[in-house]
Amino acid sequence: MTIRVTVWNEFRHEKDASHAASTIYPNGLHEPIASHLRQQGLEVRIATLDEPEHGLTDEVLANTDVMTWWGHMAHAEVSDAVVEKVQQRVLEGMGLIVLHSGHHSKLFKRLMGTTGNLKWREADERERIWIVEPGHPIAEGLGEYITLEAEEMYGERFDIPAPDELVFVSWFQGGEIFRSGCCWYRGRGRIFYFRPGHESYPTYHNQDVLKVIYNAVRWAAPHTIAATPVVNVKVPLETITPKESAAD
Ligand code: ZN
Repeated sequence: MTIRVTVWNEFRHEKDASHAASTIYPNGLHEPIASHLRQQGLEVRIATLDEPEHGLTDEVLANTDVMTWWGHMAHAEVSDAVVEKVQQRVLEGMGLIVLHSGHHSKLFKRLMGTTGNLKWREADERERIWIVEPGHPIAEGLGEYITLEAEEMYGERFDIPAPDELVFVSWFQGGEIFRSGCCWYRGRGRIFYFRPGHESYPTYHNQDVLKVIYNAVRWAAPHTIAATPVVNVKVPLETITPKESAAD
């Protein structure tokens, strides 16, 4: 079965001609992500904030196995109704890859139950992403670390629930560290947060970063998608022998 991926992007910085993102990602930062996933043989569609229902109609959600999410300046413009539907789909088994500033999206905060707050700095500094769980499927094909010569800094504390699996830890030139590759299970769904990807840097043109996103999509792809029902099991599997009454 081919994994069906929806690459969701806010797609606002890139349309601002005065912003570096418009030069680095002239067709949107979703473009290098989507084309890499297509090259790996996945079925990829793109959805963006300014489309009706943010491009996430019931039909699109019903045909998405894994969604990637990048947002930053317009988190508040994402409709609560869409967030609710995407959350439900995750709980039913859809995989979700939250990228960079998606840590403050309504969707991520709702799924985590925390603020997603963190420290940050824009100072063109080096980031070294250390692979701390090399046997994890998301780390497949990587070396000991990935170096990005210039990135925005995100520092601890990152207000998230303790990850179920921690795959990467970032070090920054200024001294901070950050849990930069985190896995959680929510309902039947798998969620991966991946830190790098500030819009002013060519991070999504980096082959190791793209490899991580591809690995994460494969890891998060569901085996089955199903809602968890509420069931009153009136007939038990085994006979329940009535307890002797206290009077006997
Ligand atoms: Zn950023």
